[in-house]
Amino acid sequence: MLDLTKVIRDVPDFPKKGILFKDITPILASPAAFGEVIRTVAGWAKELGAEAVAGIESRGFIVGAPVAAQLGLPFVPARKKGKLPYKTRSVAYALEYGQDAIEMHEDAFAKGRRVAVVDDLLATGGTMSACCRLVEDLGAQVAGCLFIVELGFLKGREKLAKHPVRAMVNYAGE
Ligand code: AMP
Repeated sequence: MLDLTKVIRDVPDFPKKGILFKDITPILASPAAFGEVIRTVAGWAKELGAEAVAGIESRGFIVGAPVAAQLGLPFVPARKKGKLPYKTRSVAYALEYGQDAIEMHEDAFAKGRRVAVVDDLLATGGTMSACCRLVEDLGAQVAGCLFIVELGFLKGREKLAKHPVRAMVNYAGE
């Protein structure tokens, strides 16, 4: 198994002072690393019985879409407010300052469908937990929450306690 911590690039003070940004673009630039990410996340989605894959804008698309294609499953984008063209359902969530909302098309899932929700990174868990609520509001079930990176010290996992959570790399104490 490849050590992804050697591939992920730390960028201090982006997008603002005090944030250590985990840049996954070097993973995407490495066919070996990206291939391993897609195979691993696809393996989890399969093991969890996923029948559809949802990706969170925008880095969740980069991982979620190839996983869905590899497994022969539908892919559903969860987008920032105002981007989707058809009728949408939305869930608001708190940011450090203010709030944001995430949206999906209201006909995104067949009733009861098991959905693997994918993003690149778990920080506080606010984004993923909003997306899970949205999946449930739309009549589907969350099969699991799948990430490349987890910032364990932010305890985002606690916000997702009712769902299986998987991450390839955990920065537990930074
Ligand atoms: P959160 O809602 O706090 O779990 O934040 C997760 C979202 O913000 C994900 O879509 C990440 O891509 C992004 N994010 C938060 N913190 C970082 C970080 N330190 N490095 C890279 N992306 C981050």
